[in-house]
Amino acid sequence: MQQSQLKPILAFTFLLSACQADVYTTDIKEYYFTVEPRSEQNTQLFSVFFRKFNRQLAQHLGARQMRFLQLTTSKTSDTSSIYVGDKSQYRRVELDGQEYQSVGKGRWERKSHIYSYGGLLLRRQKIIKNIYRMKLYFNSEYLYEWHNSNDYLTRQRAYTLFLHELGHGMLMQHHPDPDDVMYYRIDSARKDIPSFMARVVKFLQR
Ligand SMILES: [Zn+2]
Repeated sequence: MQQSQLKPILAFTFLLSACQADVYTTDIKEYYFTVEPRSEQNTQLFSVFFRKFNRQLAQHLGARQMRFLQLTTSKTSDTSSIYVGDKSQYRRVELDGQEYQSVGKGRWERKSHIYSYGGLLLRRQKIIKNIYRMKLYFNSEYLYEWHNSNDYLTRQRAYTLFLHELGHGMLMQHHPDPDDVMYYRIDSARKDIPSFMARVVKFLQR
């Protein structure tokens, strides 16, 4: 290669390396939840569910106690959220040739914040902060009808619904076993809590 050809290549390589950035990524999973609408009734109900879930997860891990899911009143754009709405906000779904009113849903979201430092000739640093949070939705009519029932199994179903949507929030799909929390129907009397908690732990360790 001749000298005259080498110069532009060197200049190009220099520019390229100056434009490249060191990338640092941090992942933050957000398990602080706000409830909407913020009413005494909703706050109480989800405090009960959170306590029960935290206790069961701690038992599964062999730990004494744990405050993993927490309710908070300080809402930031990054908190996870629970929405309780009436029937009109939920579409009808078809399962096994029958139409049902949807009772809830859950999903996991990622929001990325990208920060860049330095200039063209300084080597730049790019910091990516990924915030993962959950959005859970509940149909208030079913949730409260079940939770306030005199029948123990019906009351249990309200908590199972909570676990089920939390499961979707943790990226779990439906499971074919009727006793599984992630079965598409939640009316089985004996839900297998340990196998559900094992999947929660797996999700947390991702
Ligand atoms: Zn489901």
